[in-house]
Amino acid sequence: MKFSIDNIHISNSLKYRAMFACGGIIHTCFLILFFMIGVEEMGIVNIFSVILYILGSLFSVSHRTGHMRYGWMIAFFSEIIVHTILCMIIVGMEADFYLFLLVILPISTYVLFFSCDIKVFLRTITVFIIISLLAGSITVMAVSSSDNFPICPLDYSDISIFRMINMISAAIMLIGFSLLFVLEVHALIKDLGSSNQQLEYTATHDALTGLFNRHSLKPLFEELSGSRNNFCIALGDIDNFKKVNDTYGHDGGDAVLKKLTALIADGIDENDVACRWGGEEILVILRGTRFECLEKITRIHKNIRACSVESNGTMINATMTFGFVEKHADKNIEELISIADKRLYKGKTSGKNVIITE
Ligand code: GH3
Ligand code: MG
Ligand code: MG
Repeated sequence: MKFSIDNIHISNSLKYRAMFACGGIIHTCFLILFFMIGVEEMGIVNIFSVILYILGSLFSVSHRTGHMRYGWMIAFFSEIIVHTILCMIIVGMEADFYLFLLVILPISTYVLFFSCDIKVFLRTITVFIIISLLAGSITVMAVSSSDNFPICPLDYSDISIFRMINMISAAIMLIGFSLLFVLEVHALIKDLGSSNQQLEYTATHDALTGLFNRHSLKPLFEELSGSRNNFCIALGDIDNFKKVNDTYGHDGGDAVLKKLTALIADGIDENDVACRWGGEEILVILRGTRFECLEKITRIHKNIRACSVESNGTMINATMTFGFVEKHADKNIEELISIADKRLYKGKTSGKNVIITE
């Protein structure tokens, strides 16, 4: 399959997996570094963090319910708060661990918004913001105002390493989740566009025949009223359709209706319009001169006469009668349709299966 941005689907599982994978990788680096530089307290804290991230990446993905995922989000957030505070207290402010307090907010806003109810989202994100800001500012104040902190000050080269890791990790997480967000919004906009198209189609088309419905012709009638171009109207009605239904059942009737309307749709040009005007009545607007339009409707009528419709193993022959009228300067669309209707009636009373043009 060719790569396309449209084929990418951002699921909640993917976001949780990305979150826990990032956390797992970053904490594995911290774990190694803390043990290497002899800050064992933080090395041990990071063992628990890595275990949490491994469990999170295994189970948050398989949990189908939003409820359980929500629990994993709380665990993720709590771990970052606790880890960041401990790092600031134990190794000091200079290593820039507070960056994670800022990064967690946009990430959890995005992930929570798309994975839980709006009320739960608003409540949770408000609590997250308050906790992050309070935890961050209280820790900063405590660490900078007391000589007891940091507990294990780092030397300059270790600070530089942590600073680099923290800045790079924060940037990667922000950029990565921003990209996921953009891709997800892109997919949503696309889905919305195709849903709108489907809704518009359903609102303007007849479900059985696929022709336009009566209601959808209003704009076309307005356009035709102000147009100088030639057009003609043919109003068709299936002959003895009640008898078709009585003889072959409603399904047989439907099959005939579908086949005959398909022949009409196939026989008209791109700019012509066929509409299901009523039960088995079809209104056709044909663009062109009287001669051109009559030629088209005669060809359609001939095809209908020649066709047999198969339903439940039986072949059904059906015909149609048409009332035909051409554009007239003194008549509006409603009057033209009324003339076509009268001609259709004339055709019905004079033997059916004809096109009446006068
Ligand atoms: P005529 O030749 O004079 O037009 O006679 P007719 O039997 O076709 O006309 P009538 O108005 O007596 O009957 C039309 C029938 O079309 C009655 C109605 O149940 C049937 N009908 C309308 N819509 C549908 C549909 O969607 N499917 C089916 N199977 N029948 C339909
Ligand atoms: Mg009929
Ligand atoms: Mg009828």
